[in-house]
Amino acid sequence: MAYERALAKYEPVLGLETHIELGTASKMFCSCPTEFGAEPNTQVCPVCLALPGSLPVVNEKAVEGAIRLGLALNCSIAPWGRFARKNYFYPDMPKNYQISQYDEPICVDGHLDVTVDTPDGPRVFRVDIERVHMEEDTGKTSHVGGATGRIHGADHSIVDYNRAGIPLLEIVTKPVTGTGDLAPLVARAYAAELRDLVRSLGISDVRMEEGSMRCDVNVSIQERGTTEWGTRSETKNVNSLRSVERAVRSEIERQAGVLDAGQKVVQETRHFQENTGRSVSGRSKEEAQDYRYFPDPDLVPVAPSDAWVEELRATLPELPAAKRARVRSEWNLTDTELRDLVNADAIELVEATVAEGAPSDEARKLWLNELSRRATEQEVELAALPITPAQVARIIALVAEGTLTNKLARQVVEGVLAGEGEPDAVVEARGLKVVSDDGALGTAVDEAIASNPDAADKVRGGKVAAAGALVGAVMKATRGQADAGRARELILEKLGAS
Ligand code: ADP
Ligand code: MG
Ligand code: ZN
Repeated sequence: MAYERALAKYEPVLGLETHIELGTASKMFCSCPTEFGAEPNTQVCPVCLALPGSLPVVNEKAVEGAIRLGLALNCSIAPWGRFARKNYFYPDMPKNYQISQYDEPICVDGHLDVTVDTPDGPRVFRVDIERVHMEEDTGKTSHVGGATGRIHGADHSIVDYNRAGIPLLEIVTKPVTGTGDLAPLVARAYAAELRDLVRSLGISDVRMEEGSMRCDVNVSIQERGTTEWGTRSETKNVNSLRSVERAVRSEIERQAGVLDAGQKVVQETRHFQENTGRSVSGRSKEEAQDYRYFPDPDLVPVAPSDAWVEELRATLPELPAAKRARVRSEWNLTDTELRDLVNADAIELVEATVAEGAPSDEARKLWLNELSRRATEQEVELAALPITPAQVARIIALVAEGTLTNKLARQVVEGVLAGEGEPDAVVEARGLKVVSDDGALGTAVDEAIASNPDAADKVRGGKVAAAGALVGAVMKATRGQADAGRARELILEKLGAS
């Protein structure tokens, strides 16, 4: 059913379960390294391969990361809790259970405020957090020989256990109600805010495209005016912000169609298809397994002391929401300007550029215009461009002191990005300095007057606006390097119009 019609009749409820791979040096229960992209099965040991007789030991850094995220999400930290065994069989899981936390999660009852842009301005939604718990990742299976990379039609499957045992945090929201037609945007904003929060804590690189952050998106709908929530579906492993938004939207449309046809929504997992923007049915909860959770007897309980928790609270950095509020007022930004900065992921970069002495307006514009354009062209993130905030600040200073025009500044940016060295070296090597000394400029002005007699006559006759054509000729002759203001002065002087 079309989205607008679905929303006129039904009200959605959301629930997000997000997995984040922690960036600890070693795995959750053993000392194997965690670097991404190593040769398959080179980062394994008896513990993470679950060989008989091996015993897990909890990674303190992972617990620390969980507590810091819990605190940043305004959660209570459980003073005592155990790990549980979640029993199921899957070929890329070395044990026939996953170590997770069940009814004793380390963090409970928090919230995260997210902002959504609406035609009436920004709106804030509070997303309540049910819990944050620790668990371990599974290995990774590749299906070889088929056309689709899926198991159907494949010749054989191979398993890489390097990822098995990497620490994961799972963040589960309470049901999110009252979002109406903004539900897809709220889901997306939540995922973005959580990603930024985790990144600011430095506990994960949260790259959705590499799978270090993945979202399961729960959606149900109920007829407007009714109080009972509908049956939810759970779309698994959605791996981009855009897909989170699209998954919610398409699921609202699908469920509305099902209900309108007089059928029932079944509780099931679904899989989002990037190419179609729709999801397909996975496993239904009727055949869902009983995980037979029980406390893992191999592990001691996690009992963080108050003192440790307070110590960790003191390590929390300025969180993204507070940072946005601060830069908004310090840099005097409108809602739109702030949103553009956030969307471009540029706040940190602009901040660093300002710290190098650049005025915030200039720093913001250079990062958002010229540099964003180049990042898009090169298909890299803004922060991955080979130019530093210090170099950007230097280019801005060269413009401010009159050595460069904005146009020349763009060429310096290009030079720095091309690896030609520091901004000053690029100016030197490419000969980009503004021509403002009257000698060189005077010659160019004389030539411009000589080759544009009509315009020159008009200026002599008092039509000062005609000087524009002459300035243009000077700029052209100097390949954009003339000081346009000084060129204009000289033209008017020479033609007796000043
Ligand atoms: P499961 O393990 O079955 O996925 P969880 O409790 O881990 O269950 O997560 C369910 C998620 O779905 C939570 O985020 C929860 O808030 C959300 N949720 C629960 N009921 C509904 C509903 N009727 N509609 C949408 N989301 C829901
Ligand atoms: Mg779940
Ligand atoms: Zn190991």
